[in-house]
Amino acid sequence: MSSLHLRGTVLPEGDVRDIWILGDRITLRRPAGDTTTVHDGGFILPGLVDAHAHLGHDAATMAFDPALFEAAALAYAADGTTLLRVPGHREPIPAALRDRPDLPRLVTAGPWLAWAGLEDLDEPQTVPADLAAAGVAQALANDGWCKTYGDWEHDRPKTPEPVLRQLCDAVHAAGGRVAAHCQTAEGTRNAVLAGVDSIEHAWFLTPDLLDVLAARGGAVTPTWTGFLPHVDVVRTKPEGPRKDWFLGGVASLRTATVAAWEAGVTVLAGTDSLGHGDVVAEIGHLVAAGLPPAAAVGAACWDARRYLGFPGLEEGAPADLVAVAADPRVTPAALRHPSLVMLRGRSANRR
Ligand SMILES: [Zn+2]
Repeated sequence: MSSLHLRGTVLPEGDVRDIWILGDRITLRRPAGDTTTVHDGGFILPGLVDAHAHLGHDAATMAFDPALFEAAALAYAADGTTLLRVPGHREPIPAALRDRPDLPRLVTAGPWLAWAGLEDLDEPQTVPADLAAAGVAQALANDGWCKTYGDWEHDRPKTPEPVLRQLCDAVHAAGGRVAAHCQTAEGTRNAVLAGVDSIEHAWFLTPDLLDVLAARGGAVTPTWTGFLPHVDVVRTKPEGPRKDWFLGGVASLRTATVAAWEAGVTVLAGTDSLGHGDVVAEIGHLVAAGLPPAAAVGAACWDARRYLGFPGLEEGAPADLVAVAADPRVTPAALRHPSLVMLRGRSANRR
């Protein structure tokens, strides 16, 4: 069997190394047989990750459309984004799309599961009679994750901590993990204290919660990409609690994300996109918030992969990688111009 060969500075370690690709796997030992050098020089890093993506949903109706999914997934792959966590999708992703070698790998979580006491839900949430049982079922039916809500409206009831705790305990006992939408102080607090693994959006996350979250290997996904387009519009709205809530929540992300990272919480880059999300833009938002560039790239690459159970560029790892000319730990925007993208051992560069 012939192999592909790459040489360059391998991240995040930063050593110049040789990598071979044999089928869908990486090996650090030169395989027997023919090899073709496909990259020499520059920087080689594992494939990028969008840890919060809802690709395939129609923005107007929120209906799942396989054709929209396919188009967005192909665009992700061409960018070098080879792994997507999908915390909320209306329908199971068809196996024909999941298994396509030219589309990113997926970590799905099933439908958006909401506690019945949340009011004014305006998205296609599922409200199960038994949230904990539904969470377990979805974690088992998907890739070990379920998705729920700590809150929805700022001035309505939040999901009580005991409800979230029952869900987390049940899902953890089944070997799964819980991601929760959190956009209020009370919702975020309840989710962290109840044992939620991944705090999505993470508005109003206070310093006293960071050690709790870090100690159990928790994560935050700030999803600036999803919020920033709305900030200027909201600024034009009449003063009031809703405006204060939105602008205050987005503003809270800056300090909280950096503090979370410093406390040892895993920070994940997520775009919250219904189509093709721009992960490199989200890296830029993380840097703008004050995260060191190398940490911001890690949030969209090696740290996110580790958190989701995918190795970096090591022996036997999936053959998903990106090669760039400049060091993205210094210049993350270099990721805009990959000279090579490999997904499952095949070239996925923009054609
Ligand atoms: Zn989302």
